[in-house]
Amino acid sequence: MNTFVSKFGGTSLASSKEIRHVEQIASKLERRFVVVSAPGKRFGNDEKITDLLIECFDRASKRLDFSKPFNKIKERYIEIATDLGVNVNLDAEFGAIKMNLNFDPNYDYILSRGEYLSAIIIAKFLHRKFIDPSQFMIMSNGGRVNLKQSKILFDKLVSDDGYYVIAGFYGRTKKGEIKTFSRGGSDITGAVVANLASAQKYENFTDVDGVFDADPNFTKLAKKIDIMTYDEMYKMAKSGAKVLHPDCIKYLRSKNIALNIRNTFNLVDFGTLVVGENYIKKLEKKG
Ligand code: ASP
Repeated sequence: MNTFVSKFGGTSLASSKEIRHVEQIASKLERRFVVVSAPGKRFGNDEKITDLLIECFDRASKRLDFSKPFNKIKERYIEIATDLGVNVNLDAEFGAIKMNLNFDPNYDYILSRGEYLSAIIIAKFLHRKFIDPSQFMIMSNGGRVNLKQSKILFDKLVSDDGYYVIAGFYGRTKKGEIKTFSRGGSDITGAVVANLASAQKYENFTDVDGVFDADPNFTKLAKKIDIMTYDEMYKMAKSGAKVLHPDCIKYLRSKNIALNIRNTFNLVDFGTLVVGENYIKKLEKKG
């Protein structure tokens, strides 16, 4: 059986309503690894959990009261778990976060808690095993992933017939400190997991139908691209296309893993497929 890694962005996890779409998608047998972001915006002027965590950190570092953003975060997760019917007690988790904020605020640790809590709830909801990426994702202080060391730890954690939910966006240094990627970095987690699992496909589920040749918010003439190469995707992501973090590509290209950018809320659209140059040449030959 093929193995797919399916990563869901913040808008796909914003509330229980969106997470029920994820449940449907994750029920496909190949989708053995689900990688999750922190809950994003539910509506236009809503706040992303990661932004609220940054606010907590900023306030705590200045010794200011952080209870307002902290309580918003807590309420959001409790609401998601309750609405999904997931029986989980997050008191110890929130206690640990508060302790860090009160006594020694650590930016990477605080930021990572969005994905961490998200993955705990979603793993329970989907009846899958939760994996904290700090158990296998070894990163340098500069944020580079050590694939060799990560692979050894990853192989010890997963079995061939297991189904997993992995928190995106962070790993740890060799010393054991939590380390986050840059913003949007859950995309990178998904690509690294695809590489370590030697997956056939990395599906990146988002809230648009794929990659467009122009910003559809600015022009109605923007057209979705059905298939493109790693290089083309990398250049677009580097030059600001928000649909994907550019640092994903190297982990996919080295193992020739197809990337499929798709819309969680529009499954009839196949999205954009990103593959190696050779694959496209073969298709062109076939006509
Ligand atoms: N939650 C993080 C962010 O908002 C990472 C991610 O969503 O990929 O940037």
